[in-house]
Amino acid sequence: MFKYNHTTGNTPGKSPCCHFCTDRGAAWAYPAETFTRRLVDGVHVVLDGPWRACTACHRLIEADTWAKLRRRSLAFHRAVYGPLTPAEDIAIAADLAPLWMAFRARRTGPAERIGGVV
Ligand SMILES: [Zn+2]
Repeated sequence: MFKYNHTTGNTPGKSPCCHFCTDRGAAWAYPAETFTRRLVDGVHVVLDGPWRACTACHRLIEADTWAKLRRRSLAFHRAVYGPLTPAEDIAIAADLAPLWMAFRARRTGPAERIGGVV
């Protein structure tokens, strides 16, 4: 089983990325219980540590506007990887939904400021 620790997934010398849109400059951290997520048969990831968010994503999370957060995340994905086909768009959105539902279920407290731009 692959164990991913959210707090160590950073590039030295660069600001930490947002776990919701992947933009650099995470400014908030959400405490959450560790949980395991199945990627494909036989491959599971343990998500361990707080979830980081940039200020834009933090505002969408606090406003409980998950559809807007999904659009923001997909826009960043397109900027990095190029245009998505409608099928890819649906597949990524379908992947984000259960991941973020798990986050919401396992969040243990309010966001804490960790730096970055607010
Ligand atoms: Zn973000």
